Amino acid sequence: MKEIVLAKVGEIVLKGLNRRQFEDQLLKNIRNCLKSLGSVEVKAAQSTISIVPQDEFIDLDEVCERISRIFGIATYSRAAVCDEKSLESVLKTAPEYLAEQLESAKTFKVEAKRSDKKFPFKSPEICRETGGKILQAFPHLKVDVHNPDLVVNVEIRDFGAYIHGKALRGAGGIPVGTGGNAAILISGGIDSPVAAYMMAKRGIRLTAIHFASPPYTSERAEQKVVKLLKKVARYSGNMNMYTVPFTEIQETIRKKCPEDYFTIIMRRLMMKISERIARDKKCQALITGESLGQVASQTIGAIACTDAAANMPVFRPLIGMDKQEIIDISYKIDTFETSIEPYEDCCTVFTPKHPRTKPVLERIEDAEAKGEFDEMIERALQNLKLTFINRED
Ligand code: ATP
Ligand code: MG
Repeated sequence: MKEIVLAKVGEIVLKGLNRRQFEDQLLKNIRNCLKSLGSVEVKAAQSTISIVPQDEFIDLDEVCERISRIFGIATYSRAAVCDEKSLESVLKTAPEYLAEQLESAKTFKVEAKRSDKKFPFKSPEICRETGGKILQAFPHLKVDVHNPDLVVNVEIRDFGAYIHGKALRGAGGIPVGTGGNAAILISGGIDSPVAAYMMAKRGIRLTAIHFASPPYTSERAEQKVVKLLKKVARYSGNMNMYTVPFTEIQETIRKKCPEDYFTIIMRRLMMKISERIARDKKCQALITGESLGQVASQTIGAIACTDAAANMPVFRPLIGMDKQEIIDISYKIDTFETSIEPYEDCCTVFTPKHPRTKPVLERIEDAEAKGEFDEMIERALQNLKLTFINRED
């Protein structure tokens, strides 16, 4: 029996005039993400996207797995294609295709959608006939229209007639590429990969920036970041990662700045450098994994000082979440196990014993002036390393 995947678009239906643009981007994202599986036709009609394998060997489980991570899809399901668009064919296909699920259910109902108004039977008739046929084949079943174990869906569309069971919940959100570009400051920790995922969900296309301080941080720490981004890319699509050489700047902070301001100055310089990279790469905002009050550099006062260093919007999608909520998402997107691998981040190499939780901006700016960081920033910017991040398939 021929099977396809039917996906329903989510929030993008709400987008009025922009709808076409959202839908086109979504189709493009789906095609891109399935490309390596073989030839697949992807087309949209009436808020439903049909994904039709063109080769025998295409693994539909894998197609569904990938579809489940594409933002802009509210629900999706595998569906059987009826041999022809006729009631007989529906009546034959429905009990056959869903046999296993019908066998184990106690109650069911049939729902029919008829978007092809030329089809000679109306929805209630389709439901009645299909329900009757199923009851004949599975006499143990009862119809329950309120709370059935199984909903048998019949869809009569322009392209054909389809049968499917329960639809699964998709990734939600809006299609990546419709919300502009932003740069995620990515460490090897738990939080920033989650922050990246959350902004991609709002349609943002990502560029990644990572600060490395060899020899204080190792090559393996950077590889860990690459591994995390490959996981994120399963949702966000492929992206560029820029590694910033940060050693000279960090050593200078240690040498010339007051210890209780180490971290905040480091974070401000990260923002300044990131802003430069972001502008150069056509990004309109920065993204960090900060969460209010989580550590000394994330108090409201410290965040105000960090913010003052950047002249573009800084998105902090985790700001109001607690650690467990963040960890739950990191499990869901499968970054947690990688995040807890024990490699040093540059943030942890020169940590002060007593960091300021209520930093004073004027004092920071004085200290930064003494550090004479401008040339160092230029040097760092001239020595960026580019790594292309492919989604982990
Ligand atoms: P994470 O779990 O993301 O590492 P964290 O709770 O450890 O976050 P910090 O170390 O204070 O918090 O970092 C705050 C944010 O600063 C991170 O979420 C990330 O966006 C950014 N950041 C920290 N270290 C780096 C780095 N080496 N390169 C790029 N960005 C970084
Ligand atoms: Mg960290």
